[in-house]
This record gives sequence, C-alpha cells and structure tokens, in this order.
Amino acid sequence: MILEKLTVGPFQESCYIIGDEATGTGALFDPGDEAMRIALAVEQTNLEIAQIIITHAHIDHVGAVAALVDEYACPVLMHAEAEPMLKQLPNQALMMGLRFGKVPAVDAYVEDEEVVHVGDLAFQALYTPGHAPGHLAFYSREEGVVISGDALFAGGVGRVDLPGGSMEVLMRSIRERLLALPDETRVLSGHGPETTIGEERTGNPFLAGGLL
Ligand SMILES: [Zn+2]
Ligand SMILES: [Zn+2]
Repeated sequence: MILEKLTVGPFQESCYIIGDEATGTGALFDPGDEAMRIALAVEQTNLEIAQIIITHAHIDHVGAVAALVDEYACPVLMHAEAEPMLKQLPNQALMMGLRFGKVPAVDAYVEDEEVVHVGDLAFQALYTPGHAPGHLAFYSREEGVVISGDALFAGGVGRVDLPGGSMEVLMRSIRERLLALPDETRVLSGHGPETTIGEERTGNPFLAGGLL
C-alpha cells in the first residue's frame, strides 16, 4: 500500500493519499486544503486518483475537494447524513471569517459496513457519529489501518461542541466500532500523529477512568 500523509491548512488537517501499488489506483481521504500541494504529492506517487473519500463534512476536511475534482474528474464519496452540513459550509466559513468556494457535489453515499475499493485495497466504512453527523471511519483489515477522521486521535477524541456533536454518541462510536479493532491496527487520524488502537485503548485519557 502506498500511504502519504499531508498536513494541510490552518487547522493542520491530515489528508491521506492511499494507493494500491499493483493497479496504480489511488484515493484521497479528506483533502482539506492546499489542493495544489496535494496534487503535487499525488504526481510524485504516479497514482491515478479514482476517488475522493470524506470522513465528515467539516470545513478543514473538505476545503480542497472541489479543486481536486476539477483535477481528477473522480467521484466524491461520503455518508448521506453529512450532506446538510456540507451544504452549510459557505455560511460556516463566513462565520469563521473564511471564504469557502464551490461546495463539491457528492457522487455516491457510503453506508455503514460498505466496502470501498481503492484498486485491490478494501476499506470498510465504520459509521462513527458523535463528532459530526454521518462521520465515517475507514478500516482495511488486510493493511491493518483505520482512517479515523476526527473520532479518535492519539491521546484524544473529537470535539463534540459543534452542530450535531454528542459525547455520548461519540463514546459509543469509539467503543463499539473503533476499539473493536485489533490492538495492532494503525490509527490514521484527522489531526496529529499516528497511533494504534492498542495504545489508545490503554493510554487515551478520554477512554480511561470508567468513562467507557
Ligand atoms: Zn471535524
Ligand atoms: Zn478536523
């Protein structure tokens, strides 16, 4: 598996370029900003980008989607429940003193448990709301990685004070869907360094102390 992480934009969001070496097919997970820098990094991998996959519709995760759709003419995948928030992005940006350009069109809705293929790689969607509506994580059993979006971080969990957020729902998502994965699973999250399920199970202060 080809895996490149780019930290982009003012929110230091993690965009992942993931590709299948055998077929040369790739996908972009959460291209949040700096479209040209992402496109340059893609060029260096020689991957053909076939999909843009969104974990959730927060501005820092989708800011470069429209520009990269122009570049690759590829479909955009997301959970249906994230769509209302996506439509609100220009307003949300305005409130933050930012400008959001074109709202990208979503070509296919991904449901819980659905398997998304990137070449010969398979990622299973894990419905993990609580941080944002329609939040999805993407798990590859074969590669032993989960793209956790903003549900779970190294030593942290997603904030729940934004619209549609709920600590109770988030904790249930983490407990039932993410902590159900094997300890050695690499966690590629939406912000900050890589971790593993095992490290978070034992060392994450939000998951300790009987909260779960
Ligand atoms: Zn978020
Ligand atoms: Zn984020």
